[in-house]
Amino acid sequence: MRALLSVSDKSGLVPFAQGLAAKGVELVSTGGTARTLREAGLAVKDISEITGFPEMLDGRVKTLHPVVHGGLLARRDLPEHMEAIKAHNIGTIDLVVVNLYPFRQTAAKPGVHPEEVIENIDIGGPSMLRSAAKNFESVWVIVDPSDYTTVLDIVNAGGDDLAFRRLLAEKVYAHTSAYDSAIATWFAQQRGEPFPPTLPLAFEKQQSLRYGENPQQRAAFYVEKPGAGLGALVQKGGKELSFNNLLDLEGALLAIEPFGAQPACAIIKHTTPCGLATGSDALDAYKKALACDPVSAFGSVIAFSVPVDIAAAEAISSLFVECIVAPSFAEEAVEILGRKKNLRVLEGKASWPAHGMDYKRVRGGLLVQDRAPSPTDPQQWNVVSSRQPTPEEQRDLLFAWKSVASVKSNAIVLARNGATIGIGAGQMSRVDASFVAVHKATTLGHDTKGASLGSDAFFPFRDGIDQAAAAGVTAIVQPGGSVRDEEVIAAANEHGIAMVFTGERLFRH
Ligand code: 5GP
Repeated sequence: MRALLSVSDKSGLVPFAQGLAAKGVELVSTGGTARTLREAGLAVKDISEITGFPEMLDGRVKTLHPVVHGGLLARRDLPEHMEAIKAHNIGTIDLVVVNLYPFRQTAAKPGVHPEEVIENIDIGGPSMLRSAAKNFESVWVIVDPSDYTTVLDIVNAGGDDLAFRRLLAEKVYAHTSAYDSAIATWFAQQRGEPFPPTLPLAFEKQQSLRYGENPQQRAAFYVEKPGAGLGALVQKGGKELSFNNLLDLEGALLAIEPFGAQPACAIIKHTTPCGLATGSDALDAYKKALACDPVSAFGSVIAFSVPVDIAAAEAISSLFVECIVAPSFAEEAVEILGRKKNLRVLEGKASWPAHGMDYKRVRGGLLVQDRAPSPTDPQQWNVVSSRQPTPEEQRDLLFAWKSVASVKSNAIVLARNGATIGIGAGQMSRVDASFVAVHKATTLGHDTKGASLGSDAFFPFRDGIDQAAAAGVTAIVQPGGSVRDEEVIAAANEHGIAMVFTGERLFRH
């Protein structure tokens, strides 16, 4: 058996090569890889010895040779193929270990010269990978260092696992297509293509899901590479995540994001908060969030911005919850939550990938946009009413503005004391959203007098303001920008409401 090794990422290479050598596999390698292996005391043949050509053009041509590609592509089951390579003195190559020049990382370096980026377009590597993968019936091809041990185990056991070689080949083509797509993206960026450069369709399947939004729909979870976000969460307990769990987890993380390191808790149903609060700690924030709408909180997904301690875990365990996500959990908290067999406990940061884009499927296409904007801060706000908000109102307006960002539009949030007390979500008119927010607050026993109100977009008419005033709302935050702003401001002044314009809309369709 003969192996050809040519890798940029040399992690795990030496033990793997040692394992192969111990099995009597002959090692052939390119410049830097050969050096690494020799330094580890392994016997390696240089590729130039086999091709009869030196590596040339600054490494642009190292392995691009019929001796290499013939040795990879010859079908072992066809006598004509085997005779042809023999006639040309070509020996078979049975195992290929290649990973590519770090194109993506090089292109992402600040101030990098285009020439350096172009030199990092790997040519010979993808060619070898594709040749070897095409001949997976006879050739092992390893592009991912995390597969080294599995391959060694199979080789050591003297096994011949065709199904696994087929899987390795599939991985290769997914990898090389993502690699080329990154190169195409870079070229489009250089040309000045404004947005988006091209789609970085580097998604990999993480898991099959039992079903989609409904049991009649097949589903799976694909994660972006390099990984971050939901795919990076560690599950510490509970059964398998479902499609709707993942959707709600996204909604939950979105809801707490504007609060940064401040203790905050979001309780999510159908991707929208039914309770959102800040507090002195995790337990306090949870209690305040739950108080908003304890009826809807049944079967929810809950996110925390701070670690979950024993006290918070105990409080949560008396509620039926689908998932809970937090940056970390106290050991005993995991134990307490672990007693609830169906509760999925997820730990981690789950940040949005750098330069990540937001995709929405429409029939026959994909809508692409920047991810949702973070809510603007008060320095950019404009007080448009005659009355200034009091410091207390100002605090609740900021909370309401940060909260309404994660509520499905049309969205209205009533807030007091750093907690939502009424949420009107997903309505087809703003006046209905106001009505729902007030209705929910009052039917659930909240006093709306003196509450602050956040609206994700402008009020097109004064009716929403009148309705809020009737409920006792004293302060309103909204983007402004309606043709009837004057009428709306006049209504606020009539009711003695303090009103601020943020200048930015926060739709979430
Ligand atoms: P080494 O560190 O062994 O000198 O180089 C390893 C890298 O060279 C690998 O990333 C491999 O994909 C790449 N490579 C191998 N053959 C060729 C070739 O013929 N042309 C180019 N451009 N890259 C190659």
